[in-house]
Amino acid sequence: MAKNETDLQIKECGNIRQLIHRLRQNHTLSDQELKELLVTEHTEDLEYLYQSARQICDSFYGKKIYARGLIEFTNYCRNNCYYCGIRRENHKIERYRLSMDDILKCADEGYLLGFRTFVLQGGEDPYYTKEKLGEIVSCLKRKYPNCAVTLSFGEWEPEVYQYWYNCGADRYLLRHETADPLHYGLLHPKEMTLKNRKECLEQLKQTGYQVGAGFMVGSPGQTLDTLIQDLRYLEKLQPHMIGIGPFIPQKDTPFADQPQGTLTLTLRLLAILRLMLPKVLLPATTALGSIHPNGREMGILAGANVVMPNLSPAQARERYVLYDHKIYSGAESAQNRKDLENRMRTIGYELCMERGDSLM
Ligand code: SAM
Repeated sequence: MAKNETDLQIKECGNIRQLIHRLRQNHTLSDQELKELLVTEHTEDLEYLYQSARQICDSFYGKKIYARGLIEFTNYCRNNCYYCGIRRENHKIERYRLSMDDILKCADEGYLLGFRTFVLQGGEDPYYTKEKLGEIVSCLKRKYPNCAVTLSFGEWEPEVYQYWYNCGADRYLLRHETADPLHYGLLHPKEMTLKNRKECLEQLKQTGYQVGAGFMVGSPGQTLDTLIQDLRYLEKLQPHMIGIGPFIPQKDTPFADQPQGTLTLTLRLLAILRLMLPKVLLPATTALGSIHPNGREMGILAGANVVMPNLSPAQARERYVLYDHKIYSGAESAQNRKDLENRMRTIGYELCMERGDSLM
């Protein structure tokens, strides 16, 4: 290699490390600098990025990786998001709803397995009225007052969010999906707007929930510029949790033929987000585990600190098909806690069954 080529590489390498160092020191990077972090191909720089993110996470959370029990309680949805396998117009999937009893059974099993957070996730299904879901939350909290209940159930009116909060819901996950309004319009039909999503997130925060936002990595139409907008939006919102995972096509959606999001971009974004919001709760998502057999572990080594194994009944898992090849067995199954524990131990971490509230 020519001398000046080597010099250039060293200079670039030094630059990227400086950027990582500045981010670590709580300095804001310019858009251009963030883009450089997102595209760098230097293996050593990427290793340095992941290690820095991991160190910051360890300094707040130690070697603990928090476990949440995921209950996918309905795959009916009134929305028609172009990317999602449970969208209203997908007539190829078998729909299901879990009853109060089914949900309590999942929680009972989860509690015995040691879980102290239950995440109730579903399509926006109006069958679960304010009162019906409120009753489910109240029952869960009465039975398990030392557990946190997280809802991930989409966009509702402020008084509905308030009602569920009063029933005892502690946290709410609502990914913003993209912070660019034009991009939002490419992913959703026109009745859905970014403005409404952002208002919901603000409302949830004001109500007192620990709030999670986030987006898919590599969703159709996503660019470096839209990603910068996502990072800026999250920086401003300061959510307690951030859910990001690769977009994965689902065969019966309008995005069936779109390419899937990549592992490496997801890992970079996890690490950058950890450095930007050091105390955030950041899951290594099921989608990440679905695109690579060690995706979860790699996510953790890049700064993630939450895993959400599945507690749903077997039939529900098969039908909650947000995307193709979604994993729900092995370490992804809450019943295989030991498997997940071993995987965490192999990379030097400990599966933690505490409630794991936000430090923010
Ligand atoms: N209805 C609730 C909502 O809208 O927030 C919760 C359920 S929704 C299916 C949960 C998340 O799944 C979405 O926020 C989206 O980011 C993710 N998702 C949907 N389709 C996906 C796909 N094809 N690939 C990866 N993630 C997907």
